Amino acid sequence: MKALAIDFGGTHATCGLVEDQVLLAHETIDTDCAKSLQAVLPRIRDACRELMRGRGLSSQDISGVAIGFAALVDSRVNRILSTDGKYEDVNGIDLAGWIRENIGLPVRIENDARMALLGECYAGAARGFTDVVMMTLGTGIGGVAMIDGKLLRGKHAQAGCLGGHIPAVFNGRPCACGAIGCAEAEASGWSLPLIAKDWPSAADSTLSRYSNIGFKELFEEAARGDKVAVAIRDRCLNVWAATAVGLVHAYDPEMILIGGGVMKSAGVIIPYIESYVHKHAWTPWGKVQIRAAELGNNAALMGAVPLLSQNMAAHE
Ligand SMILES: [Zn+2]
Repeated sequence: MKALAIDFGGTHATCGLVEDQVLLAHETIDTDCAKSLQAVLPRIRDACRELMRGRGLSSQDISGVAIGFAALVDSRVNRILSTDGKYEDVNGIDLAGWIRENIGLPVRIENDARMALLGECYAGAARGFTDVVMMTLGTGIGGVAMIDGKLLRGKHAQAGCLGGHIPAVFNGRPCACGAIGCAEAEASGWSLPLIAKDWPSAADSTLSRYSNIGFKELFEEAARGDKVAVAIRDRCLNVWAATAVGLVHAYDPEMILIGGGVMKSAGVIIPYIESYVHKHAWTPWGKVQIRAAELGNNAALMGAVPLLSQNMAAHE
C-alpha cells in the first residue's frame, strides 16, 4: 500500500510518501511562526503533490492520507478536539475535508503519538508486540497505550494519551494542562529551564552560562560533573521512571518504548528506567521490556499504512 503521511508537530510539519514499511520520500515544512493552520495548509498541499509528482504517481496510486496531529484527536470522527494553544483557528477548520478536497484522497486524522506507536509496532522496535506503552520525552511528554493490538481511546478519545500529565508530584509545579506536578511539568523540555532557574545554588552551576537549557546541555554538564546538573538530571530520570511504573500499573503492557529528542542520551536513560521499573513495578508475571524507539522522527509517518488499513477494515 502507498500512502501520504503528514506529521503536524509543534514547530514543523513533515509530509511523507510511504509504501508499506518504507519511507520513499519526505519534506519538512517549518511552521514555528505560523499562528494559523489555514496559512500552513496550501504549503502542505503543495508538498504532498510534489512528493507524488517526484515519483510519477497520481492520487489513483495512493490509498489515502494519514495525518498525525499534536493534539487531542478523535479519529473515529476525524476531528481535532483540543490543542495546547498552537493554531488558534484549528477548531474552525475541517482539516480532513480540506485535505480530501485539495488532494483528492480519503483522510484519517489521529493523535501524533498514537500514530507513532502504530509506526513502531508496524516497522520499528515493537514489531510483533500487541501490548505496548510509548513515552515520548521531548518538549512535552507524550504517552500512548496499545492493549490487545488496539490503541486505547476511551469515552472522549483521551484514554492512554495523557501519560505525560499523570501527576508525579502532588504539590509540584503548575502544568500547562491545568493540573499540578505532572511528569511534563517536572521533567520535560519546556519545564527544564524553569526548574533550572529555581534550583538552589543555580547561579553557581555551569548551567547558568546557557540562555536556554535543553536536555542536551543538562546531560553534557552532568557528565562533566556539575553538581546542580547531576541533581536535576537524576531528578528527571526519577520522574520518568516513576511515570513508567505508573503506566505499567495502569495498562499492563509487555513493553515500554521510550522515544523523543532526549533519547540521544538513551545510554543513560534506558538502563536507569529499566532497573527502576524492574525493581518497583508490581508485575508478578515477569519483567516489562524497556526499549528505545527505533524510528525517531519518522515514527508517525510509518504509522500511516496501519492507520489507513484499520480504517478500511472498519468499513468493509
Ligand atoms: Zn499536565
